[in-house]
Formats: sequence, structure tokens, C-alpha cells
Amino acid sequence: GKLTFTMIKPTAFKNNYAGPILKMINEAGFVIKAMKLTQLTPSQAGAFYAVHKGKPFYESLVEFMSSGPIIAAVLEKENAVEDYRALIGATNPENAEEGTIRKLYATSLQQNAVHGSDSDENAAIESDFFFSKTERY
Ligand code: ATP
Repeated sequence: GKLTFTMIKPTAFKNNYAGPILKMINEAGFVIKAMKLTQLTPSQAGAFYAVHKGKPFYESLVEFMSSGPIIAAVLEKENAVEDYRALIGATNPENAEEGTIRKLYATSLQQNAVHGSDSDENAAIESDFFFSKTERY
């Protein structure tokens, strides 16, 4: 598919890394199709990460993801989901390759700078979670 969904997570935004992260996204060939600065309520963060409900890190993740503003965006590129996950690197920044967004800008496993969809289906679901049809270009 040609689309994926990303969030710049609260710590990365607070650290003023939105500019450098978006620059990396553009330089890797992704086109921004939708974007907003917003703060999730705990209820919204819980719904977004519902797949992880019951896991030991779920409640802390929900608290963290609702703790401050995030940037949500829809990105377009051929092979978007796979190529974006390569650009961001492993979930745990300790395992992320040199030059990836998480290696450069993550502060911990939880506060790992960005989210990236793991499938075309989830990219569509996650994009719909944040953006109406009139907010996409
Ligand atoms: P994302 O969905 O944010 O792109 P991912 O697909 O790489 O990340 P998931 O396994 O879906 O990783 O986990 C979602 C998020 O939950 C991770 O990005 C991270 O912030 C947090 N997380 C995952 N595993 C742990 C853990 N063991 N301890 C703390 N936080 C975790």
C-alpha cells in the first residue's frame, strides 16, 4: 500500500524533535497527506492501543501517550508501511539501527519517539481514528 500512519510521541515532541523527525520523513521520500498537533485523552489513548490491553505496559503506555501533545500524520510513499518501519527502527531503541528515528530520538522503550503502523489495514484504521475525509489531501 501507499499509505501509513505515524505519531510523534509526547517526549519527542516536548524535546522539540518534531522538526528533525519530519525532515527525516520527507528526505526518505514520504509525502505528508494529513497532519495535526493534538493531545489524546486517556480514553482515546486507551482505545488507540486497545490491542495491548492486559499487557504489563498497557496502563503506563496509555498514561504516557496522553501526557502531552503529539503530532499525528498520514504519510504516502510506495511500500509505505514497511519502508516507514525501516526508517523508524526497532521498537526498543537499544536494538534500533544507527541512523533510524528511534536510535536518534528515543529516550526509552516506552518513549520511543514515534509510532508507525504495522500493516496496511492498521494504517487505515489508525488514520481514520485521527482524521476525517476533509482533513486528508
Ligand atoms: P508502535 O505501535 O508505537 O509503532 P511498535 O509496533 O514498534 O510500536 P508495539 O509492540 O505495538 O510496538 O508496542 C506499542 C508501543 O508500546 C511501543 O511503541 C512502546 O512505546 C510501548 N511498548 C511496547 N513494549 C513495551 C514494553 N515491554 N515496555 C514498555 N513499553 C512498551
